[in-house]
Amino acid sequence: MAVNPAALLDSVPKGLLIAGQWRAASDGSTLPVDNPATGEILAHVASATPADGMAALDAAVAAQASWAKVPPRDRGELLRAAYEKIVERTEEFALLMTLEMGKPLAEARGEVAYGAEFFRWFSEEAVRVHGRYSVAPNGASRLLTMKQPVGPTLMITPWNFPLAMGTRKIGPAIAAGCTMVVKPASQTPLTMLLLAQLLQECGLPQGVLNVVTTAHTGEVMEPIIRDPRLRKLTFTGSTGVGQKLVEQSAQGLLRLSMELGGNAPFLVFEDADVDAAVNGAMLAKMRNIGEACTAANRFLVHESVAAEFSEKFAARMSALTVGDGTQDGIDVGPLVDQKAREGVDSLVQEAVAGGARVVVGGGPAEGPGWFYQPTVLTDVPADARIAVEEIFGPVAPISTFRTEDEALTRANDTAYGLIAYIFTRDLSRALRVSEALEFGMVGVNQGVVSNPAAPFGGVKASGFGREGGFEGIDEYLEVKYVGIAGP
Ligand code: NAP
Repeated sequence: MAVNPAALLDSVPKGLLIAGQWRAASDGSTLPVDNPATGEILAHVASATPADGMAALDAAVAAQASWAKVPPRDRGELLRAAYEKIVERTEEFALLMTLEMGKPLAEARGEVAYGAEFFRWFSEEAVRVHGRYSVAPNGASRLLTMKQPVGPTLMITPWNFPLAMGTRKIGPAIAAGCTMVVKPASQTPLTMLLLAQLLQECGLPQGVLNVVTTAHTGEVMEPIIRDPRLRKLTFTGSTGVGQKLVEQSAQGLLRLSMELGGNAPFLVFEDADVDAAVNGAMLAKMRNIGEACTAANRFLVHESVAAEFSEKFAARMSALTVGDGTQDGIDVGPLVDQKAREGVDSLVQEAVAGGARVVVGGGPAEGPGWFYQPTVLTDVPADARIAVEEIFGPVAPISTFRTEDEALTRANDTAYGLIAYIFTRDLSRALRVSEALEFGMVGVNQGVVSNPAAPFGGVKASGFGREGGFEGIDEYLEVKYVGIAGP
C-alpha cells in the first residue's frame, strides 16, 4: 500500500531518546532535515546540547548491568521481532530514506531488506556466544574463558545507508548485551528515529538504546568519548573524522571499530566475461548513486578488452534516468547536498583538464536537487585526483593496463584498503590476485559483496574491525580468562 509522505513524516519521533523517554533538547533547539531532491525541509529534529549527550550516556551506563543479565534467547527474540517488523514496514522505511537521503525507492527497499537482515543474523548469533575449557599444558590448572559484553558503546553512523549502518552496529550490540548511545548523521536522522521507536515497540528496555541528534556534533560527542564510563566507540564515516575520533578515544583506551572511506579498484582481465563485468560495474559504481564506501572508484581494464568494456558500460550509463527517487522509473537520485555535488564535479573537471576524455555525462544534471549526470571518463591520468580520492558520486574513470603485475601494483597503490573487485574466468588468477590485493574484501565476478553473514571491513586508511558475519558480535564482547587451580 502506498505510504503517504506527510503522514509518515508526522509519525516519526523528532526528539532525543534518553532512558526510554522522547524529549526535546534541553535548550529547545532543533536541526532541519531536508530533501536533497527538492531542497524542501522535511522536518526539524532535536539538536542535543553536550548536557543532553551526557544524559544519554548516563542512561546507557545505568542500564548496562541489568541488560547484560537478560537471557541471550530473550535478546535474540527481541531482534527477531524487530526484523519482522522492519520487513512489514518496508514501504515506510524505504520512503523515509528516499526522502531524507535521495536514493531511488527501489534501492531504498533493497536497503531495508539488507538492513533488517542484520537483526535476523544477530538474533541467531545471540545464543551462540561460547567460551572454552582446557587443561593447562603442565596439568596444574584449568583454563576457562568466557565472553562478556564490552559495555556502553557509542555508535556514530553516516548518511549514505541510514538504516543498514545502524542495524549492523545495533544488532550485534543487542545480541552481545551492550547498551548504546547512537548518533545518526545530521542529514539523515529520521530513519534512525523510526528504528528506535520500532525497537521500543518490540520491548527493548529503557536506556539500552539512546539516540542523540545534534547540530553540534563534535562538542556533543567528544565529552562522551572522553568519559571513562564509555567502553567502546564504533564509527562509520570518513577517514579524516575517524582519525580524529581514534585520537580522542586514546584517553579511555576504548575498544574501537572504524569503518572508513574506500577507493575500490575494479579490475577487468583479458579473460573476463565482459558482459558480466559490465553488469558488475553498474552495481559496483551506481549502487546508492555512487555514494558508497564500496563504490568502484578506479576501473582498470586490460587493454585488449578496454574498448568493448568502455563502450558497453557507457551505453548502460547513458541509459540511466536521473531524478527524484520517489518517482517511478528513476535510476539515479540526487547527491546528498551541494558540497557533495561540487566535490564530485571538481574531480571531473580537473581530470578533464588533465587529459581525460568524457564518454558520457561530465557535469551536474538539471533540477532543483543536487543531481549529477552518470559519467564515464576514459584516458584518466594515473595521478589525477579522481584516481586518488574517494569520488562518492556517479562517475566512473577508466584506464587500461597491460599485465597482471601492473594491474596489481596500481590496484594496491592507494592509502585505502576496503574492497577490490576482479573479473576473470581463470580460477587460479582469481585466487592469486585475491591473495595479493591489500584490501579487507574482494569481489570476484560480482559487483556487490555486502552480506550480513560475511565480515565487512577494511585495512589501511579504510579502518579496522568487522561488521556482520561470525566476527561481528566479537566486536562487542570481551574475553575473560579464569585460571582454576587443581583439581
Ligand atoms: P563523516 O562526515 O565522517 O560523518 C559520519 C558521521 O560522523 C556523521 O554522523 C557525522 O555527524 C559524524 N561526525 C562528523 N564529525 C564528527 C566529529 N568531530 N566528532 C564526532 N562525530 C562526527 O562521513 P559522511 O560524509 O557522513 O559519510 C561518508 C563517508 O563514510 C565516506 O568516506 C564513506 O566511505 C564512509 N563509509 C564507510 C563505510 C564502511 O563501512 N567502511 C560505510 C559507509 C560509509 P554529522 O552528520 O552531524 O556531521
